[in-house]
Formats: sequence, structure tokens, C-alpha cells
Amino acid sequence: MSDYDKFVALNVKIADISNSMSVLNWDQEVNLPKNGLEKRAKQISTLAGISHELLLSKEYETLVKKLQSQTLTSIEKANVKEAAKVLTKNKKLTTDYIRELAETQTLANNAWLEARNKSDFSIFEPFLEKILNLKFKECDLIGYDRHPYDVMLDTYEPGLTTERVEIIFKDAKSPLLELLGKINKKEVPNNSFMLRQYNKAQQWDFGIYLLKQMGYDFDSGRQDLSAHPFTTSLGPNDVRITTRINEQNLYEMIWSCIHEGGHALYEQGLPADQYGLAAGEYASLGIHESQSRIWENNVGRSLSYWKANFKVLKDSFPDRLANVTLVDFYKAINIVKPSLIRTASDELTYHFHVMIRFEIEKALFEKSIKIKDLPSVWNDKYKSILDVNVPNDAQGVLQDIHWSHGSFGYFPTYSIGSFYAAQFYNKAQKDIPNLEGYIEKGDMKPLLKWLRKNIHQYGRVYNAEELCEKVTGSTLNSKYFMDYANQKYGGLYEL
Ligand code: MG
Repeated sequence: MSDYDKFVALNVKIADISNSMSVLNWDQEVNLPKNGLEKRAKQISTLAGISHELLLSKEYETLVKKLQSQTLTSIEKANVKEAAKVLTKNKKLTTDYIRELAETQTLANNAWLEARNKSDFSIFEPFLEKILNLKFKECDLIGYDRHPYDVMLDTYEPGLTTERVEIIFKDAKSPLLELLGKINKKEVPNNSFMLRQYNKAQQWDFGIYLLKQMGYDFDSGRQDLSAHPFTTSLGPNDVRITTRINEQNLYEMIWSCIHEGGHALYEQGLPADQYGLAAGEYASLGIHESQSRIWENNVGRSLSYWKANFKVLKDSFPDRLANVTLVDFYKAINIVKPSLIRTASDELTYHFHVMIRFEIEKALFEKSIKIKDLPSVWNDKYKSILDVNVPNDAQGVLQDIHWSHGSFGYFPTYSIGSFYAAQFYNKAQKDIPNLEGYIEKGDMKPLLKWLRKNIHQYGRVYNAEELCEKVTGSTLNSKYFMDYANQKYGGLYEL
């Protein structure tokens, strides 16, 4: 067995354990009875320990070192290079640190749940302080050149820096505000028909229809219900998604299906023969999100898409949508209106929710704001940027789960994902003559084929910005998103 084959075998073993953890996690979200939770947490942490031991074993380190000086193919080289990066980072985190973080995360998450239920930030505050201090420690253990927050960003978006995010957001902020200002002067379209009673079983069937049309492979995945929709890969031929159905709201199921479907198509399109290796894994969270948002927004909120699908939807709910025209529907699914909650916001104001979180996180890592002042900092920013009044902590600073997990640096990947999506979609429109024509006919194959060829097949051989440059000819630029937004909303709102 060559050194490279031994290296692959060890990586496959680590991936097997990690995918087994994913099965347990999936089961926890979808099936687990309440009393099973405690043991389940233990089972998952046992597997995490085993996988960590394998990763930090002498055998693995020696192999990675040896392979760095051997002649390998370019993909093998990329796999070894990525493995060396992961190894170096993990070696800097002490076992004590990892254990303390895991324990604090559980406590902080419970405190956050209670704080949010009672809408009282002070319950969460001491736990947030603990978890932040641990994250400051992580920055010191890992090390950084310019900004401690770079360490956080790098976890989700390898290579992304604070400075780069500032540039990307600064470029996007004023054109977005300008467009929003124009839209805000217009009347908000009617969407009351979206909030009628829509039967659960029929919603479910319509979701399955959309997923099949996108090309989601039900022989290599399945859909279930869960409180919060998510996608999880349990291996290259088992990529599962979940959705939720609200009988009084037609939006939730449809766009959660399309969004998670987009994530799942990416995972189903990763090269299965690179299982356990960087070339078989997603490039970054931003790229992952780009794959969900290209389907959710660029495709799933377009007129072409609904030219293909509105009749099927109407036939599923004839009495609910009898007098609704395609144009009414298209307007209702693209309402832009500043609001309090990130996850319920439209595709334009969404980015301000993210920018606010980024500004706050950056300030926390610069220690220029105090944790106890977070609710007032939050409320002031929402007032000054989105002109909305935050009535309480639950709908303000406590709305997202991320900080209770210590997931700082995660939020920017959402906006960056949308910007990548627009840039990729622009290129796909150039590469596929009459793409909109295919979509209007419900034929999503040309787009999926393009995504498979240009993005999915590469896994993490390239980092996000390299991949973007390879596909589109330039690094990430929010101008593509603004072009898309100005064109679409200019038409919709007759600006
Ligand atoms: Mg997502």
C-alpha cells in the first residue's frame, strides 16, 4: 500500500465516524424521543473524541508530512495540502480547550433558549461572556496576522479576512440602501392569499414535485420534517433534507424546500470517489450557501420559474388561488420590506441583518463594545439602518442561535453566498443560451449540469475565491448581485 493509499484509508475512517455522527444528529432533529437526548449527546461526543484522536495520531501526522515531499497528482496534492492545514489548526487547540468549549456550548445554548423564551438578554449574558472569552482564547491559540476575527472567519470561509468582508460589505451597502430607498416609496404588493389555509399534505406533495424537478435524487436522499429545515450529508449517496410546513403560510415550505434542495444538489454532486478527502467536500460555507440561494432566489423567485410551476401550484390549491394571477403571485413572492427577523426577511434587506451582525461581532473581537450593552447596540443599529423599532430582546439580539454555539464569523457567509450566487448565475446565463427558456419549460437540467461541471465537481480543490475566479473570471464582486437586484426590482416596482 502506498503512503497515499494509507492516507486515504485513514481519511475514509475519519469520514465514516464523522458521517455516523451526522446520522445521530439527523436522528436527533427528526426522530429522537425527548428522554433520549442526554445519552445521545454522550454518544456523539464519544465519536467526536475517537475522530479527533485519529486525526491527531502520530501515524496520520507522519503520513501527511511524508506525502508533502512526494510526487502526486494535482488532486492528490490538494488533498494533502488541505489535510496539513486542518492538522496544523487542530494541533493548536488543546484537548482542555475543546472539552471546555463543548461544555460551555451546551450551557450557553440552554441559557439562550431560556433567555429567548423570557425575552431577557441578562439570562444569556454571563454565558455569552464565557463563550466569547473561549473564542478569544481560540484566536490566540491559532494565531493571526491582522485581526483576531480573521480566525473566526477562516473556520467557515477558508482564507476570508475581516478586511475583505469590510470591502465587500462597503461596496454593497450604499447601492443596496439606494435601491431600498426607492422601493420604500412604492406601495407594498398584496400577499394576503399567501397566508390563507394551505393543507399540509398537499404542501408536502408540491414540495416533492419541486425537488424532483430540480434534479434532487430521492434514491440518494430523502426529505423529512423538522423544527428548523436543514441539509445533512451522510455520505455521497445519502444526502438528506428537512422542511417545515406552516398551514397558514405558503412561503415557508416552498422556499425552504428549494433552498435545502440547492444545498443537497451540491452535496449529491461532489465527487464520490474523493470521499473523506478535501476534493470530495464542499469548498466553503459561502459556496454552499451560493448553491442554495441560486435555486431559492435567482431561480425560485423568478418569473420564468413560476411560468413553469404556477399552474401546478394552482391545481394543487384551486379554491385558494382561483383569482390569483401569475403576476400577482410573482409580486407577492418578492415583497421587499424592512423587518425585525433575519430569517423572515426578503433578499435585499437580508444583507443589512447580516451587516449589523458583522459590525457587532467585529467590535466584540476588538473589545470596543461591552457585552451588557449588546441589546441597546443592536436596537440602535436596527433603528438607524432599517428604521425598525425592536420591541424586545427575543425579536432582537436573541433571535439567532449562532452565538450560543460560539459560531462567530458565520453570518457573513450568508451574504457572501448570495453574492457568489448572483455572480455564478450571471455566468451561467452567458454560458447557457436561452437558460430562462429552459426554466420556463420546467427543464432545470441545463442549469444543474452547468453547476455540476463548474462548481460541484471541484469539491475543495480550490478555495472559494479561487473557484469564483476560475468560474467567472474574477473574484467575488457584489456588483453582480446589484445588477440582478436592480434589474429584477426595477421591473417589479417600476422604478
Ligand atoms: Mg442555507
